[in-house]
Amino acid sequence: MSNQYSAQPNKSPSLVVHGPREVVVEERAAPTPGPGEVLVVASHVGLCGTDLEIIDGDLDPAYVSLPLVLGHEWAGRVAALGSGVDTLAVGDHVVVEGVLACGICRECRRGATNLCTDYDELGFTADGALGPGVAVAAHLVHRLSSDVPIEAGALVEPAAVVLRGLREIRPAPGERVLVLGDGTVALLAAMLVRLWSPAWVAVAGRRAEQGALATASGADAFTVDTPERAAYDLVVEAAGSTQAVETAVWAARRGGRVLLLGIAGHGQTARIQVDDLVNNDLTLRGSFSYTAEAWAEVVRLLNARSIDPLPLVTHRFDLTQFERAIKVLREGDGGARGKVMFVVDRDAGR
Ligand SMILES: [Zn+2]
Ligand SMILES: [Zn+2]
Repeated sequence: MSNQYSAQPNKSPSLVVHGPREVVVEERAAPTPGPGEVLVVASHVGLCGTDLEIIDGDLDPAYVSLPLVLGHEWAGRVAALGSGVDTLAVGDHVVVEGVLACGICRECRRGATNLCTDYDELGFTADGALGPGVAVAAHLVHRLSSDVPIEAGALVEPAAVVLRGLREIRPAPGERVLVLGDGTVALLAAMLVRLWSPAWVAVAGRRAEQGALATASGADAFTVDTPERAAYDLVVEAAGSTQAVETAVWAARRGGRVLLLGIAGHGQTARIQVDDLVNNDLTLRGSFSYTAEAWAEVVRLLNARSIDPLPLVTHRFDLTQFERAIKVLREGDGGARGKVMFVVDRDAGR
C-alpha cells in the first residue's frame, strides 16, 4: 500500500483498490453530470467489513469491478447539477442510493431494485465516494433535513440493508429477538428492530468491549457467551461468519425465523443440521442489499429523528490515514469500535 500521490489541478485524492491488498491514494478527476444527473461530493464516508473483503479479494467477483474507488456508505453535498434537474440545489446535504437500478427490468418493476438484472453499485462495480465525486441520476439523491448531522447520513446505507431485511422477515410486537454480531450492522439491527416493539432484544458478540455500544443501540442485553438454545422468535445474523449462521439456527425457537445479513466470504459453507430446519419449522431468509423503498424509508426515519445512528461512529480519519483506518477496522484498537469514518470534508460539520 502507498499513500504517495502528487496533487494535480481539478483532481482529488481518491482511495483506489487495484487488486488484492493493493490500495493506493491517487488523483482522479470529477465526472461531469449529464442531463438529469447530479454531482455529489462526499463529506463523510464509512469503511466497513465489505470494503475489507473488496480489498482482500474475498468478495464474490461477480459483485466487484477493479480498479475501484472505494466508498459505499456515505453522505455529502451537491456540487453541480446537470441540465433539467430542479429538485435539488448546489450545497444540499444529501445521501445517494448506491444501487444503480435500471428501473425497467422485471425485478425493478416489482420493486426488487436490489435484484436488478443489470447489477451496478457505487463502491462495488462503479466508482464510490472516496474520490472526486459521483455523478448519478437525480432520483437516486435524497436530501437530508437541515437539523440532521450530515455525518449521520453516512449510516443510511447499512441501515437500509438492515431495514430491508427486517421488513422481509416481519418482526412482530412482543417477540424475543437475538442479534448475532457486534459490528455496525448488528448494532443497527438492534436499533431498527425496536421500531417493531419487541419484548426483548439480545446481542451476542465476540468482543466484550462492544457491550456499551450495544446497549446504547437499544439492546436489553449483551453477551459474548453462546446464546440459549431455541430461545428466540427471531434471530438476525449480522456477524458475517459461518459460525454465526450455525448459532442462528441453534438459537431460533421451533417456528422461529432466521434472517441472514452478514457476508461470510465467497465460497464459505456452514454446517447446519438440516433436519433441524424441518423439525423446528424454521424460516431461513437471506437478504441482499436494499431496495429503493427501504432506502427512502431510512431517510424518512432519519429526517424525522426517529432513529439516531450517529453515536455508532467511534473512529474518524482523514483519507491520508487510510492505512490506520483499515488496521483499526481489521484489528480494533482495544476499545469499543463502532463505525470507522473517513471525514473527507471537515467544513461540512457533523
Ligand atoms: Zn458497507
Ligand atoms: Zn433493473
